[in-house]
Amino acid sequence: MYQLTKSVTFDAAHLLRNYVGKCANLHGHTYKLEVAVAGEKVDEVGMLYDFFDLKKLMQGVVDQLDHRFINEIPPYNEINPTAENMAYQIYQTLRQQLAEQNQNIKLKYVQIWETPTASATYSED
Ligand SMILES: [Zn+2]
Repeated sequence: MYQLTKSVTFDAAHLLRNYVGKCANLHGHTYKLEVAVAGEKVDEVGMLYDFFDLKKLMQGVVDQLDHRFINEIPPYNEINPTAENMAYQIYQTLRQQLAEQNQNIKLKYVQIWETPTASATYSED
């Protein structure tokens, strides 16, 4: 099994509702979105999947969030923009897009880093 990971960063603001603590206040993060895909076979070039295509897929997600107030962007206007919820939502989006594009690879996980030392990962394994 081969596995590729790619990460991109973006800057955004959020606050947590129904939460008592500093994160209830409006604040920002330089988020890192990390995505892993896996598959059994490489193509004739020797690639499982083109990093360029993976980045393009991730960029679609990042473009919606970069330099925005995440709480105003659906579904985060209704659910809390925690790293856990963001990882889950992004996983669902990317899984569907990947399935439409390439049958040979599978989304392994989506990891959202809020700081260099704190992240949440969603996977279905
Ligand atoms: Zn935060």
